[in-house]
Amino acid sequence: MAADRFLTRRRKLLAKIRAEKLDALLVTSEVNVTYLTGFTGDSSYLLLGPDVETLISDTRYDQQIQEECPGIETYIRDSSEKIDVSTGKVVGKANLRKVGFESETTSHAQWERFQKHAEQVDWVATSQLVEKLRMVKDASEVAEIRRAVELAERAFRMMVASLHPNMTEREASFELEDAIRRFGGEGVAFHSIVAVGDRAALPHYYPGDRRIAEADFLLVDWGALSPGGYRSDLTRVITTGRLSPKLEKVYKVVLSAQEAAIAAMKPGAACKDVDAVAREIIKAAGFGNNFGHGLGHGIGLEIHEEPRMSPISEDVLQPGMVVTVEPGIYLPGWGGVRIEDDVLITKAGCEVLTSVPKQLDEIPTA
Ligand code: ZN
Ligand code: ZN
Repeated sequence: MAADRFLTRRRKLLAKIRAEKLDALLVTSEVNVTYLTGFTGDSSYLLLGPDVETLISDTRYDQQIQEECPGIETYIRDSSEKIDVSTGKVVGKANLRKVGFESETTSHAQWERFQKHAEQVDWVATSQLVEKLRMVKDASEVAEIRRAVELAERAFRMMVASLHPNMTEREASFELEDAIRRFGGEGVAFHSIVAVGDRAALPHYYPGDRRIAEADFLLVDWGALSPGGYRSDLTRVITTGRLSPKLEKVYKVVLSAQEAAIAAMKPGAACKDVDAVAREIIKAAGFGNNFGHGLGHGIGLEIHEEPRMSPISEDVLQPGMVVTVEPGIYLPGWGGVRIEDDVLITKAGCEVLTSVPKQLDEIPTA
C-alpha cells in the first residue's frame, strides 16, 4: 500500500511533464525526491518522464533504496563518479532531447554541469512543478501532520509545567525540544523561538539568556517533526502572572484577527483575501505598521511551503492544503504577540488541527 501513494504522486507529476512537453524532468531537490519516492537519503536525483524513471544515487544508499522504495529503477554510482556524470549517462542512455530542471533549487554551477555532461539535451527551466503538487496533502500526509501537532502540543504542556522564574529562554527551548523527542518525535520542526518580553518583537529571534521573570510575558514559536518527516508550527504567548492592560489590548486584536481569518478559510478563497481579513482588523486597531509578515504558509515536509498567505500571494485555497494562520503585532522596545495555529482546508471549509488553548482567560502562566 505504502508504495502506491508515491506511484500516485509520480503519475500526477508525469501528467505535468507531458503538459510541459518535456521528455523528462530531473528532480534534484532532496525533499521533492523524498516526496516522489519515499527515499529519505540525500545526494540523489530522480529522472522522470513517460519513458524513463530512474533514481540516481550512490552505493551508500543501495540497500536503503531497496527498503524504502522497492521496485524503483536505480542507477547506483560508486564514489569515483560524480552525480552529474551519472546523470549525463542516464539521460544519454534514455535518448532524451528536452529535459526540465528545477530552476528554483538548481544552482548555476549545477546547471553548467548538466550542460557539460549532457550536451545533446535542451535543458528547460521549470518552476515548482513538484512544489505545486505538494501543496495538497493526501490522507497519509494529513495523518503525519496531525501527529506532528500532537507531539508539539504534548511537549508544550510539559514545558509550561517546567517553567520557573529563573529559567532562561534557552533552557525553556531545551525542555520543549527534549519533550518532543521523548514523546517519539523525530526532532524539532525548526529552531524553536522562546522570547521574553521585548525580544518577542523580533519575529525570528533565537532563544538566549533572558530569564522568564524579566518580563510579564514570553512568546513561544515551536513545532515538532513527526517520525514520517512532517512538521507542525505553533505560536503561543505565556504570561508570568501579571496580564498588563497593554498585553491584553494587543492580544485581543491579534486573536480577533486570527479568528476572523480562520472563519474566512474555505476552498476557493484567495490566500491574499484571507490575509487581508486579518490585516484589516489589525490596521483598524491602529497597528497597521506593526504586522510586517504574511499571514501564514503551507507546512509539510518543509516548514515553509506553498501556498503562501500574504498580500502578494496568487494561491487559492483547496481541500487538502494545510497552512498556518499567524497574525502578529510587534512593538519595538515592548515585545510582540503572535498566535499561530495549523489549519486543514476541507471540502466544507476548514479544520483547525491545533488545540492548545488561546482565549485570553486561558493563556498559560509560568
Ligand atoms: Zn511558527
Ligand atoms: Zn509559521
